[in-house]
Amino acid sequence: MPTTTTIEVLDAISPVNIVQTFDTETERRCHACREPLGLTAIECPECGAINIDRVRRRRENNRPERQVLREIVSPNYNGSYRIFRNSDGSLSCNCLSFLFQRGVQNGLGFSTCKHIRDYLNDNPAISLNGIEVPSDWQIAALKRLGVEAYGHLTNAQAYFVFHDLLTKQGVEYKEYERLLRTHGRVNILPIYSFGVELEMNIRSREELKRKLTEAGIDAALTGYTGNTSVDNPWRIGTDGSIRIDNGFEGTELVSPKLFGADGFATLKKVLYIVNDVGTRINKSCGFHVHIDAWNWDTSLMLELAKIWAKIEIPFLWYLVSPKRRNNNFCKAVDTNYLLRLAEGRYPDRYYSLNVSAFHRHRTLEFRLHNGTTDPEKILPWIIFLLKLVDSVKKGLKYSDITDSSFNGITDAIGMDDSAISVVKEARNRLYGRYMHWKEDAERNPNHIPQVQPIDPDSIEEELQRRARQAERDSLMHRRSGLRWTYSRRTNRLATANSDLPSNSVQNLASRILTSGRVIEESRFRQVDETIWAVPSRSEDDREYSVALIQKTILLPADAEDSGSMDTATTL
Ligand SMILES: [Zn+2]
Ligand SMILES: [Zn+2]
Repeated sequence: MPTTTTIEVLDAISPVNIVQTFDTETERRCHACREPLGLTAIECPECGAINIDRVRRRRENNRPERQVLREIVSPNYNGSYRIFRNSDGSLSCNCLSFLFQRGVQNGLGFSTCKHIRDYLNDNPAISLNGIEVPSDWQIAALKRLGVEAYGHLTNAQAYFVFHDLLTKQGVEYKEYERLLRTHGRVNILPIYSFGVELEMNIRSREELKRKLTEAGIDAALTGYTGNTSVDNPWRIGTDGSIRIDNGFEGTELVSPKLFGADGFATLKKVLYIVNDVGTRINKSCGFHVHIDAWNWDTSLMLELAKIWAKIEIPFLWYLVSPKRRNNNFCKAVDTNYLLRLAEGRYPDRYYSLNVSAFHRHRTLEFRLHNGTTDPEKILPWIIFLLKLVDSVKKGLKYSDITDSSFNGITDAIGMDDSAISVVKEARNRLYGRYMHWKEDAERNPNHIPQVQPIDPDSIEEELQRRARQAERDSLMHRRSGLRWTYSRRTNRLATANSDLPSNSVQNLASRILTSGRVIEESRFRQVDETIWAVPSRSEDDREYSVALIQKTILLPADAEDSGSMDTATTL
C-alpha cells in the first residue's frame, strides 16, 4: 500500500505556489550521480547537477510580459540598450551589467541599473503590481548562467534576465531546457566580447564602406573624420604587410567590440557584404581575433599559454593552412616565450598567441588563422577560441589536457554533446577542417614545419633552476659588500610593470642608502618612505614606481651574519 504525502512545490516559473501530490514510494534520484534527491530539489546536493524533472513550463497565459519604455544608443557598445516595463510593474534593462547583476543597485523593491535609474529620474512615478520573488528553478538556472547576485530581482525580472541572457548566448529556452534535462548542464556561448582583424584584397574600399552604411552598419575609411552615429565603427584600413593583387585594394577590416549572438549576426552580415563586393585572399593575408580578458590576471594568461603550447602543433596546426604554421608573423609558442611570461615579461607580438597587449588593453590576440572572409571558417574559429578562453578562466589547467586528439581537446573545453547547437555546429565545421589538413599533411609531410615540441613541465623546472640561481647571485652581491642590491629573482610585485629596464632598478638600488635617502640623484623623486618615482627616459612622460621591499634570505652558515636583506624592485 503506497503512502502518499502532500507537499508544496514551487512551480517552475509561476509566481503562484501550486499544491501537488507525489507518491513518496517513487524514489527520486539525481540523474547524474544517482544519489537520492528528495522530493523537490532542483540542484543535486551531492554533485550540483540540475534536475528539472519536476520543473514545468509556465503556461502561456501566465508568462510575464513587458513593453519597451526607452531605447538608448550606447556610445561604446555596438548596439543599444532597452528599458522595459514588466507586467509586475518592475523595470528591466538588457545591458550587460543588469543581465549579470554586476554593480546593480536595489531600487524600489526591485533591481536597477544605471539606465533604469536615469529613466526613473525623469519618470519617478511607477506602480508595482504583485511582485513575487524568483523561484528555486530561476535561481538555480541564473546561477548556471553566471548570475550570482539575484537577491533583488523580482520573479518577472528574473524571467527576462534569463530570457535575454539565453538569447545573447545563442540559445532558446526550449533547447536549453532539453539539454539540461538530458545532460544536467549546458555549454553555451561564453560571455567574452571579441573583435576581428581581417586582411584581404578587396575590389573597392569605397564600395565596401557604402554598402556597409546602407545596411545600417557603421563603417569608416581610416582617416575619415566625419560623424558616425556611434564612436566605434568598423574601420576599413590598410596594412603594409598585405601583398596587393592587380585590380584590388589591400585592406584591413577591423571590427568594433562584438558580443554574443548579436555580435556573430553582425559579423555574418558584414562578411556577406565583403564577399559581395569581391575579395581575393593571398598568403600574405591574416585573420586575427581579439578576446577581451578584462577579468584576467597574468597567472591565467600563463596557463592559457601553456595549454596553447601543448595543443598548437598536434591540434591547432590542423585547423589552419600550412603557411600559418610557425611563420614569421605568427611564430609557434616556444620555451623562451613561456619563460618570459612566467618571469613577468612579455614576448613580442609576432606569436600565434599574442599577449603583448594584455597589460595595456587587457586583450588576448590570436594570430594563427590564415586569411579568409568565409563565415563558415571564421565563426567556428572564434567560437573555439571563446570556449578555450572561458575554460581557462573557469579553471582548466594544461595538465587537464591529456588527450591531444580532436575529440580530447574539444571535449575538454566544453564543445561536447551538452553544447548548444551553435557550438556543436562550430565543432563539426572545425572537424571538417581538421580532417582536411590531416590528410593534406599525410600527402605532404613538408607542410608540417620541424619545431621542437615543448613540455610545459620542463618550463617549471627551468623556472625553479633560475630562481635558485638568482638566490645564489644575491648572496654573491651580499658577500661582495653591496648592501643594497637588485635581486633578479622574479617576484609577484615585479610582474605588474615589466616595462622598467632592470638596469634602472639596479641603478636605483645601488643609490639608496640604508637611511632611506637617495645619493645626489635628482632623477629619482622620493614619494614616501619606501617608494621612489623614476621618470622614463624615452619620449613618453611615463613615470615608474620603484619600491624598496624587504626580502629575507638564509645565508650559509659560514657567512658573517645572517638575516634580512633589502632589495629594490619595480611595483
Ligand atoms: Zn547528483
Ligand atoms: Zn542598463
